[in-house]
Amino acid sequence: MPEPVFLSVVAPCFNEAAGLPMFHKRVATACTDVLGHAAPGSLPWELVLVNDGSHDTTFEVMQHLVQRDPHVVAVNLARNYGHQIALTAGLQQCRGERILVIDADLQDPPELLGPMLQTMEETGADVIYGQRRSRAGETRFKTATAALFYRLLRRLVDIDIPLDTGDFRLMSRRTLDVLNLMPEQHRFIRGLVAWTGLRQVPFPYDRDARYAGDTGYSLRRMVRFALDAVTSFSIVPLRLASVAGLTLGAVGLLGLLYTIGSWAFGSVVQGWTSVATLVLLIGGVQLMVLGVFGEYLGRLYLEAKRRPLFVVDRVLMRSVARLPTHAAEPMVASAWEAKLAEQGAMVAGDRQEKEGGALPHVQ
Ligand code: UDP
Ligand code: MG
Repeated sequence: MPEPVFLSVVAPCFNEAAGLPMFHKRVATACTDVLGHAAPGSLPWELVLVNDGSHDTTFEVMQHLVQRDPHVVAVNLARNYGHQIALTAGLQQCRGERILVIDADLQDPPELLGPMLQTMEETGADVIYGQRRSRAGETRFKTATAALFYRLLRRLVDIDIPLDTGDFRLMSRRTLDVLNLMPEQHRFIRGLVAWTGLRQVPFPYDRDARYAGDTGYSLRRMVRFALDAVTSFSIVPLRLASVAGLTLGAVGLLGLLYTIGSWAFGSVVQGWTSVATLVLLIGGVQLMVLGVFGEYLGRLYLEAKRRPLFVVDRVLMRSVARLPTHAAEPMVASAWEAKLAEQGAMVAGDRQEKEGGALPHVQ
């Protein structure tokens, strides 16, 4: 019977090669400080690193970390799927009773693990979410748009999505089990966690600047992320169509009264300008409403296909104390893996054969 893993630290990584060794070092120190050294054969914690189709040497660095440290599990996705999907992949792989979600760029300090675990024990809450008191090293534009976005989102959605939070949070296994049941493609994970309704307690912290590399979130990705957040949790924008229709209808009625009045009193209506303005205005509103419909319809279309969320290329690990829930297939045979196997490293596909389990390779 494999030893259960108490804590899983899950980090999606996109072009994080420069900072990854330092990230691993700080996570390992924090986990060892809090959970102590493992007895041989047991594993109190694991670090699940998901390579989200990086263009740099992130996966090579992960491979070295797997070789050096049995706590590390490296999940290589087949391509870049984006932050939320990469995180989903890691969350589906991990086995811990407690799960810490953290960015690999060291913006969220791993040293907060101890206090967060303590808060969880003390409060008995299912989720301890990091709430940003400050954000170092981010542009004023990003901080301002983020603040505006979270406040707007709160007005639009019915569930209580906490302000100024990212995905940095500690979760209980039962929270994650619910999260893993949610099949949607357009994932706004912090919202999905809030949706569960399980007890959540804030944990204020100061967000650091990136340790190395650049943000993977371009303005375009940020806008898409915001649209996913709103459309996943709210149909208020669809109702805007009715509101816009009613408002314009009322204005139109007033216009009609004015026109009839002018005709009755004989004053000549010249107004090409006003007609043109009205046509443009109404046309604009109609297009906007169609656009909103389109956003929802497009998402409905993509969800309706029910494609797997991601494809795992391979999972590398050395630990024998755990089994992956979703092993990687197909295995790509490479010299490196042969070398790793010689050194006693475990590769998920191998385990799957040894254990005789029929595990899906996609999720
Ligand atoms: N990330 C990812 N896939 C992407 C973009 C980002 O896995 O397509 C990871 C990235 O490596 C980091 C986390 O998601 O660990 C947050 O991304 P980033 O730091 O770029 O976002 P920001 O902190 O600037 O919002
Ligand atoms: Mg970051």
